[in-house]
Amino acid sequence: MSAEKLAVIMLGAPGSGKGTQGELLEKHTGFKRYVMSDLIKKELKPGNKLYDKIFKEGVLLNDNNIFDIFRMYFQSENQIILDGLPRTLDQAYWLYGFLLRHKYEIQLVFLNVDEEKLLTRITSRRYCPVCHRLYNTETKKPKLEGICDDDGAELIQREDDTEKVFSERLQTFDEVKDIILDVYKGDVIEVDADNDIEEISRDILKKIIVRK
Ligand SMILES: [Zn+2]
Repeated sequence: MSAEKLAVIMLGAPGSGKGTQGELLEKHTGFKRYVMSDLIKKELKPGNKLYDKIFKEGVLLNDNNIFDIFRMYFQSENQIILDGLPRTLDQAYWLYGFLLRHKYEIQLVFLNVDEEKLLTRITSRRYCPVCHRLYNTETKKPKLEGICDDDGAELIQREDDTEKVFSERLQTFDEVKDIILDVYKGDVIEVDADNDIEEISRDILKKIIVRK
């Protein structure tokens, strides 16, 4: 079957490389990529209605806001990549219906990672507050423990990289992952995302082309 219209949905845990892989896929295929967090940032500017609602009235961004923002930017290209949508069960159903109405074939790329390895990789990250260089206590150690090679500053761990914060994010993802995979079952391409970046990228391309 050859699809005239194809929507590739990227799904992966935080830190799984979803953004990087979406970017590479866009580069290799020329598909139009929609990154939901970028669109939200663009919309949440002082002076617009949504911004006032969220920052002045303290209303949380809900699924309908997400749909509105996506529709605002969506240009109905023949091949698209979606990053950061869906994130909830309602978004999963809404997007499924939306893509079908627009006659897209759907392929959901699930970046499957070993979560224990991922947790180790993320919580081993260290950061220089002076020159912003990144280190890793497992794979990219500084010459002196805890000290930046370039300027001698004391390395710090970002709050997002602490075990507490990161495992919470991982858990939140795990809770919706199975639901989303269930909504899109039949359209799921699973990729081993523990491989290196280039290998994962080739794997995705190969599987998408085969499925097309
Ligand atoms: Zn430094």
